[in-house]
Amino acid sequence: MVKQLALFGDPVMHSLSPRIHIMFAEQFGIELNYQRILTPKGELSKHISVFKKADGLGGNITVPIKSEAYNLCHRCSERAEHAKAINTFWWENNELVGDNTDGEGFLNYLEKHLEMNPSGKSILLLGAGGAASALASIFTHSGLNTLWIVNRDIYKAESLAEMHPDYKALTYDSLAKIDEMQQFDWVINATSCSLQNKVPKIDGKWLKDTIAIDLSYCGGEPTSFMSWALKHSAGHVDDGLGMLVEQAALGFESWFQKLPDTYPVLANLRSRE
Ligand code: NDP
Repeated sequence: MVKQLALFGDPVMHSLSPRIHIMFAEQFGIELNYQRILTPKGELSKHISVFKKADGLGGNITVPIKSEAYNLCHRCSERAEHAKAINTFWWENNELVGDNTDGEGFLNYLEKHLEMNPSGKSILLLGAGGAASALASIFTHSGLNTLWIVNRDIYKAESLAEMHPDYKALTYDSLAKIDEMQQFDWVINATSCSLQNKVPKIDGKWLKDTIAIDLSYCGGEPTSFMSWALKHSAGHVDDGLGMLVEQAALGFESWFQKLPDTYPVLANLRSRE
């Protein structure tokens, strides 16, 4: 029987998730139909129950309804509970179960593909939305030095900073006032600025010689953040495509109890960019 999966969010048409999951499924001879279901805020409950009745097995959730999905779940993984946001779901005994694989997907990409890990690093995290929350949560066990979380809405940054004593919350204005001697090893852009072709308002000096990673991706072109980081002498820049593939692999494992090989899938996506 063809397995039915779907992505819910708004927008969804640009998403690479169907291509990624179909390539994963081919590795195991699984027949898959992966739909994109346009789901504006407030409509998830309705769309998800129609999907379940049509033999839906599970799926993914994207912006702007990851917290709405969290609120709908009967049960969640610990990491989803921590992030209060869902990117992966399925049903078990008629109960909706949620998980958040974004943070682990990010770490897996760094470790498997770039041979990097956060241990001992000073990290500047821009943004305090769902993706930033998943990263802050996964970093709590990573042995990093400090995590500086910068957001326009300081309350969201402060709420993430409560996760660990080595986390600090800042506004963009307060970042501008911190000690000139402070240096960051990594600068991670977890804002949605690149989707609007903007860059977060920080001084370019913070980028010098850093690893600058944008969670957004832009069909093979450097994102606005990557171009800006290179202009300000970042040592290495990267986008969120690898994270996308790795977080998808963890979701696929939850649905089919099989962990796909992400290397050929990421290589395929990069070759078509
Ligand atoms: P959210 O909507 O939850 O959060 C958006 C964040 O961006 C908030 O911190 C918001 O700040 C900030 N922001 C938006 N516009 C601006 C601006 N003009 N200047 C400064 N900050 C801004 O989104 P997500 O956390 O889910 O997603 C964030 C990004 O990460 C998106 O680009 C998304 O595509 C990407 N992503 C990539 C994944 C991958 O697998 N590669 C997985 C998940 C997300 P404020 O709170 O102050 O409004």
